[in-house]
Parts: sequence; C-alpha cells; structure tokens
Amino acid sequence: MVRPAEISGNGCVLAVERAGKSWRIAFASEPRTSPQPLWFHLEASGLHGAPVEFVWEHADICLGGASELDRLRPVLRADGGEWTRVDAVTVELLEDGRRLVRFRCPGGSDAVAAAFCYPYSLPDLDATLAELGAAWERCTIGVTHEGRPLTRLRLAQDHSEARPGLYLMARQHSGETPGSWALDGILRYLASDAERARAIREALDVWVCPMVDLDGVVNGDYGKDALPWDYNRAWERLPMRASVHAIQRDLLRFHERTRPRLVVDLHGPGHSTPGIYVQLPRAERPEQQRLGGLEFAGDLAALTPELPAASLGHETTYASRWNMLSTLGSWVWDTMEGTQCVTVEISYQRLVAEPLTPEGYREIGRRVIHAANGWLMRRA
Ligand SMILES: [Zn+2]
Repeated sequence: MVRPAEISGNGCVLAVERAGKSWRIAFASEPRTSPQPLWFHLEASGLHGAPVEFVWEHADICLGGASELDRLRPVLRADGGEWTRVDAVTVELLEDGRRLVRFRCPGGSDAVAAAFCYPYSLPDLDATLAELGAAWERCTIGVTHEGRPLTRLRLAQDHSEARPGLYLMARQHSGETPGSWALDGILRYLASDAERARAIREALDVWVCPMVDLDGVVNGDYGKDALPWDYNRAWERLPMRASVHAIQRDLLRFHERTRPRLVVDLHGPGHSTPGIYVQLPRAERPEQQRLGGLEFAGDLAALTPELPAASLGHETTYASRWNMLSTLGSWVWDTMEGTQCVTVEISYQRLVAEPLTPEGYREIGRRVIHAANGWLMRRA
C-alpha cells in the first residue's frame, strides 16, 4: 500500500508494480494549493523486505525546473527510523522531453517513507520544545483558517526591561522544511549552556512564530504561491491571511517591547539551488532597507567560509503572482518605523558538495543567530 504520509503527506501515486523482486512506485508531487508543485512525502507499507524503486514523475515541472535534477537527494526512512539522504538519483529523459527522477531504497524493511527533504511538522516542533523544557514560553497568538492554534514562542527571561528584539519565523511557504531545521538549531542553541548562547540569551528578547502556514505544514501542502494568496504576499495593510493578521498584531506588541529590532524570515529556494543566501529587498525599496539587508548578508558570509562572500546577497528580481511589495519585509519596514526584516533562503540539498543533514541545518541556524546578534549589537 502506498499513500501520502498522515502528517505533512503529499504525493499522487501513479503506478505500483512488481519489477522482479523489487517494487516500482511511480508518483508525482501534488501541487495542492500551489500552481507549481515540489514537496512530496509518501509512505509504502507491506513490502516484506523487498527493495523499492521510486520513480518521481514530472520533477521537471517542479519549482527549480529541468536543470540539475541529478543534484537532488530525496530522503528515505525505513520502518519509522531515522531519515537519510539517498546516495544518488538517476534522471531519465523520455523521447517526448519529459524527465523522470529515479531513486532506490534497498530491501530489508516492511515500511518505507520517501520525502523531498527532511520533513519537519508540528510533532517535531512539539518534541523539540518538550526536550528544551522551560527555556521557551509558548503561547497562542491566533487561530488558522482550519482552526489550529497558531503558536508563538518567546525566550523565557525577565521581561521587565526592554532589550534588543529578534523576531524569527519560518514556513510562510509550508513545504520549505530547511527553514524549520535551521530554526530547530536556534531553539536548541539558545536553550543550551554554551557560553555564547547564554550571552545572547541575556542580551536579546527573542520571539518566534515557527510555522506561519501551519495548516499547509500539517496538510503537506508545498505552499509556495499558495492560492488564493501567497502568505508572503498577504502582508497588505489589511492582511489577506488569518495567520498574517495574527502575526501583524504580534509584531506590533514586539515593536512596543523591544529596541532596536530585527525580523528574520527563514525559507527554502528552488529544488536544486545550493548554499544559503539573503534575498535582498527589491530595487524599489528604500536604500536604507537594502543596505541593512546587505549588511546582514555580510555578517552571515563572515560565518560561512564554505561560500564566496558575494553569493550570500541575492538581488530579488523574479516575477511574482501578487503585489511583489506586499511581503513581510516591506510591511515590517513600513509599519514598524524602519525595522529591518531579512529573508534567508536555505538549500534543500547542500551548502557546497555534501548533502545537508538535520545537524547541518541546525549549524546554519546557529550561524543565523550569531549574524542576527552581531547586527543588533551594532545598533544597541
Ligand atoms: Zn519561501
């Protein structure tokens, strides 16, 4: 039996057949609310130890296109164990121009799950927070369209005096799990006994909305350009999404309680794009906002020796299906007295050569928190 996973599941099963001693499972990513698909997360059971060949069809129409499909490394999990990257995929070009991506799971298990990248859903967040105990205060700031409580965290500390403030968020695009893994690293690091973590904990007031499109995260929607309105284009003066409305009100509370301030929004790029980078405010935006973003990119570059420094700042010129200036970053700048918001894109695949692991993503999170702390301390 093959079907989308119960939590964050996605995948249209096209064919299940025996191929010698193996199973061959052909599937495609479901677009759900997005015009263009990418995310998938399927489970196959009743395998009785047989190897599985997954055939991912229409991968070439997913966000990222037909190039570099051979660089993709989906993840597999056998019998509910740890997720691991596949060693390699093979890309097959069909006579009519379509491309298939094949990857294999060796036999030996009864159930196998396959996903585009390491899944991270609400139970993963709950497990991390349970592990970290009282380090983070958890509250509800609103309710999603489907009736789920929208969580916001705040670093537990004495709130009687105003500190420099950092507001973090992830999953405006619900399938972009690298943002959540980096955030997981930040949550763990700031709760740790590391000396620099303790210093940051003393210095900063940190607020976190870990899953903006929580419905999309749980449902397994990819969520980029989600219809009827992309979450990161819904930051109109009158917001177009319930979570955005709730977070806008929360950001105003954050604004009243912190000085200076920085907002960091964590994302994932196209399917094969490597590295990490800051998506700079568009050319139409105020020069000071663009300079603040470039400065953050420089801070992150200094902590990322694997990559050329100039690659950490990306100009934003791509077409948008909605008002391209109705982003979180524009709203924060325009509404919160020139507060900087930086958008950090984190690869689904790798920094340079080696595929990223959950621990690698957590390390990226630690770099983001150090960059944010440095940026804020220069203004405190
Ligand atoms: Zn995104």
